[in-house]
Amino acid sequence: MTETLQGVGVSHGVAIGQVRHMGTAVLEPEAKQIPTEDAAREQARAKRAVDAVAADLQARGNLAGGEAQAVLEAQALMALDPELMADVERRIAVGSSAERAVYDAFAAYRALLAAAGDYLAGRVADLDDVRNRIVARLMGVPMPGVPDSDEPYVLIARDLAPADTALLDPTLVLGFVTEEGGPTSHSAILARALGVPAVVAMPGATAMPEGVVVAVDGSSGAVIVDPSTETQERLRREAAERKAALAASTGPGRTSDGHLIPLLANIGGPVDVPAAVKAGAEGVGLFRTEFLFLDDSKKAPSEDAQVEAYRAVLEAFPEGRVVVRVLDAGADKPLDFLTPADEPNPALGVRGLRSLLEHPEVLRTQLRALARAAEGLPVHLEVMAPMVADRQDAKAFADACREAGLQAKFGAMVEIPSAALRARSILREVEFLSLGTNDLAQYTFAADRQVGAVARLQDPWQPALLDLVALSAEAARAEGKSCGVCGEAASDPVLACVLTGLGVTSLSMGAASIPYVRAKLAKVTLAQCERAAAAARAADSAAEARAAANQVLSGE
Ligand code: PEP
Ligand code: MG
Repeated sequence: MTETLQGVGVSHGVAIGQVRHMGTAVLEPEAKQIPTEDAAREQARAKRAVDAVAADLQARGNLAGGEAQAVLEAQALMALDPELMADVERRIAVGSSAERAVYDAFAAYRALLAAAGDYLAGRVADLDDVRNRIVARLMGVPMPGVPDSDEPYVLIARDLAPADTALLDPTLVLGFVTEEGGPTSHSAILARALGVPAVVAMPGATAMPEGVVVAVDGSSGAVIVDPSTETQERLRREAAERKAALAASTGPGRTSDGHLIPLLANIGGPVDVPAAVKAGAEGVGLFRTEFLFLDDSKKAPSEDAQVEAYRAVLEAFPEGRVVVRVLDAGADKPLDFLTPADEPNPALGVRGLRSLLEHPEVLRTQLRALARAAEGLPVHLEVMAPMVADRQDAKAFADACREAGLQAKFGAMVEIPSAALRARSILREVEFLSLGTNDLAQYTFAADRQVGAVARLQDPWQPALLDLVALSAEAARAEGKSCGVCGEAASDPVLACVLTGLGVTSLSMGAASIPYVRAKLAKVTLAQCERAAAAARAADSAAEARAAANQVLSGE
């Protein structure tokens, strides 16, 4: 019987196909005692399995490239953690089998991480995935993960580990639905990078029977279970029409009456540039430079290595804007050499700009590398700081940029409510603002962006978040400066129109979203966007805001 379930749409498109569940069997090896004379052999076996899994993750990373590569490499490093291996060897020495020792050592490590603060919630999933892979290899059972299938299917999972999303084959995996995860979780960001329709935070996802046909709408978040033939035909027809409309939309971002709103790309490094160029990005609105720092969590990459990576990106957009964010370490992106290990609440601790101001040499090297990379290029380089709280932060960043001799515009990200509330004061120090709506939602609603249970509060349609966007855009307009959005909010085509109506001056998103946003903007006038923005702000909930804006904008 047809039934419609509702989750949060995080990656556009419609997928219709049979459900296949992710292999999530919890493998708990038997706790049997092994003879002491077998210990050395077991230790060698454990070491081989760990090395093989690390090499496999590394290889998957090389294959995937981009942001996925950084995540997979971080997982490979987890597997190779020498303390973890030492613990495994200790456990084997006192009688554990290799698989049981790995299982128990990871459990101890996991407990340690969990006790270190809830910001590690997202990494715990990564750690569990690494453990399952090693244990499966040792037990000689199939690896947990994406099911083996020759037929295209819709993948269902409680949550998807980066190792799995990174290797989803878009020709086989039509789309995916998860029970956990929020709209700004890494899985959602990776799904958009892959261009696979996806719905997250959907209660009941894992209870859907294997093999049942579902239609997944990655835009609205609706999942129709067992849709009728007519519904399937209608959805396919609509998807085909949308695809044709998308292919026809090219050129700069603009409303139907000619209001220009540059559409920029979010990238994690040079490897993401070709997709951005192909999607017609007018530049880069957010270069997340921390992905360059994940290779070795013990130290920063050299100045020369940074120059090379920055130059590769700058050269790809000779006439366009490239907005580079300086290192945003901490909270969901911890780095050993910068992030304090003992913070009770790292999302509220020394992260982002705060971390760089405590390690000025890291900031200086990065700014110098950017200055060198831009030398002799006609590009419009802009450099911004993450997690700016007030004018003092903005001044410290601008001073550091000036001292490094950087010929660029300096800006501040608005990710903390205080920055939106006092945007004018921050704009006395910097030349532009960029709204990081992922963190801005997290801090406005006190809702961890990695926790599926609070996804409702991470919804960028929340009117309180729209109020803060409006405050920032109004302040920038009053100061004659620009204010873009680079959080995931910009990738929702209808919300992109609302943001335009609120007065933001550019939108930056994963490359796969650009055609959708461009096509939607081209169908509406600026006045409609402004009316939709007013209607959304007048609403009392995210759902009402979405409905009100849709109503205004549907008279396209
Ligand atoms: C944001 O917080 O909205 C943002 C763009 O930064 P990140 O997602 O990298 O934290
Ligand atoms: Mg952020």
